[in-house]
Amino acid sequence: MNLILLGPPGAGKGTQAKRLEEKFNIIQLSTGDMLRAAIASGSDVGLKAKSIIDSGGLVSDDVMVQMISERVDQEDCKNGFILDGFPRTVAQAEALDIMLAEKGLKIDHVIELKVDENILFDRIRSRIAETPEAERRSDDTEETLRTRLAVFREQTAPIIPYYADLGALKSVDGMASITEVSDQIDTIVAA
Ligand code: ADP
Repeated sequence: MNLILLGPPGAGKGTQAKRLEEKFNIIQLSTGDMLRAAIASGSDVGLKAKSIIDSGGLVSDDVMVQMISERVDQEDCKNGFILDGFPRTVAQAEALDIMLAEKGLKIDHVIELKVDENILFDRIRSRIAETPEAERRSDDTEETLRTRLAVFREQTAPIIPYYADLGALKSVDGMASITEVSDQIDTIVAA
């Protein structure tokens, strides 16, 4: 089973992806985590990505599509995967469709976590405040957060109608409790 989790920063994609990993024995592919690993390893991609990420912008579509394409080919993805943070632009969504078709794969469910944007800002602000500075992501600052939310609205939100038009989109109430959101996702996945 292959899933896409959609939603703005702070919507709870990571939390739900972790749970889905265990429940269905599939792999979470977080492009944010993959990029942070690339930065930590000092690779070419990491070096280029660092300043973009810290400013709250998006890494180029080509780099991201290539990164996901290579990752999906690995053995641990055989049972399925959860895309978290990808696709983030309509161009990435289109490239993903083509890439998966070439591999003989498809997405089973596109799940949108619907959240109130006004509350998101407070959610992430408290996540920042609760995390010790040494463990904080370098892009978890209030200023970058504002940019990330604006980038989501402008560049990522258009993929919601893209998947709705394909008839692939299912939405859950991301403002509900973690267990309620999980239950809603399970219902979609079981259908
Ligand atoms: P968030 O918590 O804001 O959802 P992520 O951990 O998913 O953030 O990603 C952090 C940063 O990594 C993004 O702000 C962006 O710069 C970069 N990034 C992650 N995924 C993508 C992608 N699919 N396309 C372009 N840039 C990406």
